[in-house]
Amino acid sequence: MTTIFDKIINGTLPAEKVFENERILAIKDIHPVAPIHFLIMPKKSIRDLQSVKSEDLALIGEMVQVAQSLAVKYDIVDGYRLLTNSGPEAGQSVFHLHFHLIGGRRLTHELG
Ligand code: AMP
Repeated sequence: MTTIFDKIINGTLPAEKVFENERILAIKDIHPVAPIHFLIMPKKSIRDLQSVKSEDLALIGEMVQVAQSLAVKYDIVDGYRLLTNSGPEAGQSVFHLHFHLIGGRRLTHELG
């Protein structure tokens, strides 16, 4: 299934990019919930966290490293949230794996 993020990755839909290499893209979320709200995604089509296979684990690790370096670059190392919604019951709306990197304000404990 082609998602909005596939279109952003292949360049047919615009997005504000904050990081890109051959394997990973990070963009600004169009509906930010905090001053910093980025979406970090693999260029490889993976539906959700539950679909991650053992051969994808290096990619997941690299996504975490991208989150760390964006946290340094955007000065939120004192506190940020890195999360993914896996599946419709968790509120996933775009079925291409992505981590939300959220920070830049004091975050409350409401996760659900
Ligand atoms: P989720 O609900 O966890 O699947 O997250 C999807 C996120 O993608 C939401 O926070 C949306 O605001 C965001 N989003 C949807 N379309 C776009 C887009 N074209 N550019 C940037 N972010 C988007």
